[in-house]
Amino acid sequence: MKIYSDDVFKCQYCGAPNKAITWDTETFRSCRSRIEKREFQHLNNSIAIEKDNDTYYKCPRCKKWSKGSQLVVVKARIEEVKHIKRDSIIEISNKL
Ligand SMILES: [Zn+2]
Repeated sequence: MKIYSDDVFKCQYCGAPNKAITWDTETFRSCRSRIEKREFQHLNNSIAIEKDNDTYYKCPRCKKWSKGSQLVVVKARIEEVKHIKRDSIIEISNKL
């Protein structure tokens, strides 16, 4: 599944919708070691949100950590949603 820059990720705890870049910034800021920084994966990389991947992301609002696959993806474009192994759901937005 391709992630576009206008796709939004919602936190599973507080439901706050934020763009991938905002999640990336918040998460990267919390990477303490050089190893963590090297292993960091951008959320707009589709691998980051697959079930088998165990990368965690920090919510820009409530600061809780979720696995990439647990974030709710709000897709701005319906044609790109294909079969993908996920823990959570994919929403389609037609107002973005
Ligand atoms: Zn949150």
